[in-house]
Amino acid sequence: MIVSRRDFARMAAVSAASRLVAAPQAEQRPIGYCMVGLGRISMQHFMPATKTCKLSRVTALVSGHRDKAAKMAAQYGVPERSIYSYENYDAIADNKDIDAVYIALPNSMHAEYTIRAARAGKHVLCEKPMTTSVRDAEAMIEACRKAGRKLMIAYRCQLEPTNLRAIELIRDGKLGKLQAIESANGFNIRPGEWRSTRALGGGGPLMDVGIYSLNACRYLTAEEPAELRGYASVVDHDGRFQEVEENLSWSMRFPSGVVASCNTTYGSSMPGIYRVHGSRGWLQVDEAFGYQGQHLTAHIQGQPAIDEPNPARDPSHFVTQADHFSECILNNREPKAPGEEGLRDMKLMREIYRSAGYDFLA
Ligand code: NAD
Repeated sequence: MIVSRRDFARMAAVSAASRLVAAPQAEQRPIGYCMVGLGRISMQHFMPATKTCKLSRVTALVSGHRDKAAKMAAQYGVPERSIYSYENYDAIADNKDIDAVYIALPNSMHAEYTIRAARAGKHVLCEKPMTTSVRDAEAMIEACRKAGRKLMIAYRCQLEPTNLRAIELIRDGKLGKLQAIESANGFNIRPGEWRSTRALGGGGPLMDVGIYSLNACRYLTAEEPAELRGYASVVDHDGRFQEVEENLSWSMRFPSGVVASCNTTYGSSMPGIYRVHGSRGWLQVDEAFGYQGQHLTAHIQGQPAIDEPNPARDPSHFVTQADHFSECILNNREPKAPGEEGLRDMKLMREIYRSAGYDFLA
């Protein structure tokens, strides 16, 4: 078989991702997950991914809609007795088929359902953003620590092969000394979404999708920002942005001197992207934060241009994410993005909001 340079680079990144899911040593049985919230991310992405997982399967559901839950239960072989409501959620403590919960609820509900899961003796994989206040994030970490249970925040891009390939090129020094990063991520929100309410969203596009750019700047540089400044605006006075920002632009300076400039919005379709500039070249990842379609290009002095589209149709990183957390549970390892990682972003977003004149995340 002839392996092209591009295929080789891709295989290397995929293999880096798969190393995060080492073969279980302690136990072989798959980890049973209880889905908490049956919305878009759980039903369209997480649950279908478990069908190809080696170490993860859906064993229980929590929903306020019994009919929807019964339909999903039938699809995933979940018994009737393992369907819960938000009211009898604490009874998961008595269900031995549940090892962990996957929290896929509106942002402001993450803390309560994480803490209740920990008290019920379950491990927690919680969607981003971790929660809607720094205090809640700390309480989630403490509850899991006290219960001796693991907490991971679902930063799936940290396990996605093209993002891993970008990190690899940077760590190998291919771009020389990093100088600057640009990133953007946003979409045009429909009226009436819980995401644009302070009560459920906790903030606006920064909390929801700008967080990808923030987290990427941190994993690309492997540094924590030393300084942050944000600017927010509302352009569309059409009732959608009574409680949260429409646009947020922020800049950061990292200790090494790298500067970053990021934009997020709920007012325009803004494809997720980053471009990293170094003293020897630059790289760009298009669709950097999407479910699929990532595309890396790089121009490095004295080397052929790199052009690596990710051909995968299925977002395999959902599979990697679930199996990574399962493997951490089985072998008592620290997940790649533990609660402390979510807390760091919470604190940074609080600073960005403060600088932009909002008191979110206080
Ligand atoms: P969604 O609106 O599609 O689903 C939310 C679920 O919560 C629904 O099942 C809904 O019935 C339930 N719910 C319970 N109480 C509710 C209430 N009071 N108001 C509204 N819904 C309530 O949302 P989603 O897009 O699946 O997002 C869920 C979480 O996942 C969010 O925190 C979001 O940031 C995160 N998310 C992550 C990704 C990712 O790629 N990692 C992508 C999308 C969403």
